[in-house]
Amino acid sequence: MSVIEGKKAKEILKKAEFIAVLTGSGISAESGIPTFRGNDGLWKKFSPEELSSFEGFYRNPAMVTEWYRYRRKIILGTKPNPAHLALADLERIVAEFYLITQNIDRLHQRAGSKKVIELHGNIMENYCMKCGKVFDIEEFDCVYEKFEDHVPRCECGGYIRPNVVWFGEPLPEEAFSEAYKAAVNCEVFISIGTSGAVRPAADLPRYAKYNGAYLIEINPERSYLTDIADLWVKGKAGEVLPQFVEEVKKLKGMK
Ligand code: NAD
Repeated sequence: MSVIEGKKAKEILKKAEFIAVLTGSGISAESGIPTFRGNDGLWKKFSPEELSSFEGFYRNPAMVTEWYRYRRKIILGTKPNPAHLALADLERIVAEFYLITQNIDRLHQRAGSKKVIELHGNIMENYCMKCGKVFDIEEFDCVYEKFEDHVPRCECGGYIRPNVVWFGEPLPEEAFSEAYKAAVNCEVFISIGTSGAVRPAADLPRYAKYNGAYLIEINPERSYLTDIADLWVKGKAGEVLPQFVEEVKKLKGMK
């Protein structure tokens, strides 16, 4: 059975040379990383304000640092799933392709995607809140070992925090501007594994749609975007995306 249903969807995908994709935590669920709002969502067990906000870090930097180190370890123990791999494949067959992600897990890059726009930063890096110096995993762990209180500080004396966007913080300007341009200029916008609840990322599919793009959603459940989607492919990303990309290749005469 085809996952690309309808004559219009097929015609558009056959010709599309500019595709933008937005992914959310749902795409990594099949790699074993919990989503935020699902039944096993992370925030069911922990308070987001304590663990993912500047106020929480200020109140208890050691706990927040430990929590991110723990999550990073879990994420490093996972692998890209067939959905991540299918998107890397899709990038190779269209002229212009942007993968905008809300995820901080770097699984898209590990799957081979090249043009990845990270809207919420990534969990592999940390940076100094005073001088801005960025620390990769090895550098961070090296500094971390030196502080018995589990609160690593930079040489300049500043606190070192994860390079992720916390609740209440703005998105990185350059990343959002690039994502915005991709959304308003693309022919097809595909939203995958995102509830469409976290703004401003959730506005991108709407910008795309209102600027003429064909909007496709891939999600096993309805989301805030389902009602405006031109096509809803109902299913788990890891199950439907590989088939979706194979069908796009066939439509483009590549198979
Ligand atoms: P969300 O938790 O609000 O929504 C997840 C969506 O994924 C839901 O609509 C759900 O139905 C769908 N979903 C669940 N399993 C799926 C599957 N197998 N295939 C396709 N879809 C599936 O997540 P969100 O919209 O990404 O927004 C919340 C925030 O979560 C983001 O800011 C993101 O930074 C952060 N986050 C990231 C990770 C990660 O990096 N892997 C993990 C948890 C949270």
